[in-house]
Amino acid sequence: MNASGDSRKTVARLRRAVSNALRIPFMRGRVGGVSARRIRSIEDFAAVIPPLTIEELRKGWEENQLSPGNDARRDVGLIAQTAHDPPVYVTLSNRALELYAEVLADCWLSAGVLAGSHVLIHDYGTSPLVYLASRNFCPYLKTGAAERVGCIPVCNDGLPEFTERALHILRFVRPRAIFLRGDAVTPLVTRLSETQEKLRRGLELRAVLVSSDEVMPLRDNRGHAMLSGLLGAPVTTLVRADAALFMASECAKSGRLHVRTDRYFVETLDPTSLRPTAAGELGMLAITPLFCDAYPVLRYVTGLEAALDLGGCVCGAAGASLSTSA
Ligand SMILES: [Zn+2]
Repeated sequence: MNASGDSRKTVARLRRAVSNALRIPFMRGRVGGVSARRIRSIEDFAAVIPPLTIEELRKGWEENQLSPGNDARRDVGLIAQTAHDPPVYVTLSNRALELYAEVLADCWLSAGVLAGSHVLIHDYGTSPLVYLASRNFCPYLKTGAAERVGCIPVCNDGLPEFTERALHILRFVRPRAIFLRGDAVTPLVTRLSETQEKLRRGLELRAVLVSSDEVMPLRDNRGHAMLSGLLGAPVTTLVRADAALFMASECAKSGRLHVRTDRYFVETLDPTSLRPTAAGELGMLAITPLFCDAYPVLRYVTGLEAALDLGGCVCGAAGASLSTSA
């Protein structure tokens, strides 16, 4: 099953993605002599482009096949991804970086973040939640999520030893939204439970977004419920697959993940055959980012199991949404 939306537009986007990818030695080696013109339909795309696993991606870096090399545009930057161990890296042009930040801004808006709000980000500096949040955090970025939404971000490192500082920010800055990495939930819940301060009384939180990369547990239902109770705000999940530059946030009404089909082509694949599964059937989520011009990630198979629905969401949002198995 795939999220195609308007299929002519989708095929044109896929063809462009393949054409960009074929400039990189890694992808040319994977598909042989095929040209992007061979992609005339979504079915062609699935038939010509083999699914890409994290192991292959890592091997591509090890063999120095993923560097844009002589084809590099002058505006290419590399950003390390640390959720995988050993880490993988992504290559982003300035244009791709801006579009990636736009996806994050959409996640902020769908979580209910309002212009003028202070926003606490409790995550590592190499997380896209941080480097896409503001041009002040990433020198290559012109307009981060904060500038797009009109917010003031306050960043605090996601390490457990910085939990105390997150409490200080909650107490003194009084943010209207919090974004934190999944493994920061338990330390924060513990400290909030221990403290006798009337912290919650002064808070007017609208949203708490907990992010999980595909290599982390998707969500900790008990931890989220406790955090919601302690902070007096809804807690939702933002799912990432950093190796594919993917982000989607959970709808507060349906619990499904809204997917931007103009930015991502998403499929669900049978875990054994890696063939597309039927509509509504669980499969491994595979992602093709459509905005990357210097990074040949096509049909990246994530560690996430999901079912795809093209019929729109109960909240009224049109387009594709995903339900996850966790
Ligand atoms: Zn929805």
